[in-house]
Amino acid sequence: MPATAARLSHFTESVIRAMTRLCNQHGAINLSQGFPDFDPPEEILAALERATRGPFHQYAVTWGAPRFRQALAEKITRFSGVPVNPDENLVVTCGSTEAMMCAMMTCCDPGDKVIVFSPFYENYGADAILSGAQPVYVPLRAPSFEFDPDELARAFASGAKAIIVCNPSNPTGKVFTRAELRLILELAEKHDAFVITDEPYEHIVHAPHEHVYMHALPGAAERVIVCNSLSKTYSITGWRLGYVQAAPRIIHQARKVHDFLTVGAAAPLQEAAIAGLQLPDSYYAGLRAGYTAKRDVFLSHLRHIGLPFTEPQGAYYVMLDISALGFTTDTEAAEWMVREIGVGGVPGSSFFREPEQRFIRFHFAKKEETLHAAGEKLTQLARR
Ligand code: GLN
Repeated sequence: MPATAARLSHFTESVIRAMTRLCNQHGAINLSQGFPDFDPPEEILAALERATRGPFHQYAVTWGAPRFRQALAEKITRFSGVPVNPDENLVVTCGSTEAMMCAMMTCCDPGDKVIVFSPFYENYGADAILSGAQPVYVPLRAPSFEFDPDELARAFASGAKAIIVCNPSNPTGKVFTRAELRLILELAEKHDAFVITDEPYEHIVHAPHEHVYMHALPGAAERVIVCNSLSKTYSITGWRLGYVQAAPRIIHQARKVHDFLTVGAAAPLQEAAIAGLQLPDSYYAGLRAGYTAKRDVFLSHLRHIGLPFTEPQGAYYVMLDISALGFTTDTEAAEWMVREIGVGGVPGSSFFREPEQRFIRFHFAKKEETLHAAGEKLTQLARR
């Protein structure tokens, strides 16, 4: 029998998505894969109904339907202040997942080094392997998840072609400060490297923290490649709508990668999502306040358990330190929680380069009633 490609032996299927399947199998409350159990805004649902009867059932323009790109460009400029040309600065993709793969393949030849902070969103490992890039890991150390500037400088000096910056960060909840982002950009300039950002949680930031758009920093235009998604902002993770935003010379190359990977994102969904991009500022204020309230509900339950956990500054993930529970591995602990407690989380080890078994990642993108139900079940951990 012919052998499948050797590169596939270097990574597993997503642990995050596998935990969702395990939760479904056991009827557990799924706080593993981050997605909401509430509906998208009514405006988007109404627009989706209208789109089904419109002329949107064939391919859209490969790099994004013009009306969608126009609305997207306006929405980006509204929040970051940076002018965006919908014809030159954007490629619409199937989620930030494709955007990241597209950005990696646009920047890197096989063998090029890419800096990845650890812990990291698990896709980056697979993205690196599939694009042939070689990850160089720089730790973000708990509990503050700061990086050591000297360590980062050494990683750049090793000849890195790009760095991935997930901000707000999955799984740590870290929101990078302006000073940190400036330092990263200065090092990228010094070593002539790309900065690939992944920012799907841009609007889920808990006060007093604020999201800083790296592409808006001085000197960003030539090297920052933004990957982003509408999934989290509009609660439409199943629609798979994302984008790459960068300088025209980069976008012209990225379009080619995207064209041959997927041809394009779903045309009727692009049309319907315009209604989301045109929502007023009050929608984003509400989204943010709603997520901070959910965070507070979930963290108050975790406080009753008495185990240490990370306080997210942004995004909707919490890492619970389960080392006191006496499991041999975090995978064993996560599977036990699904079966015996009825709540699913993700074994922290799937986010770390280091041999870290201390954490289970939970997300709180759920209705408050779901969070209360999960919180009550999780209090059983206090008795273990
Ligand atoms: N970002 C989400 C998470 O980390 C899920 C993303 C996905 O499965 N595509 O859980």
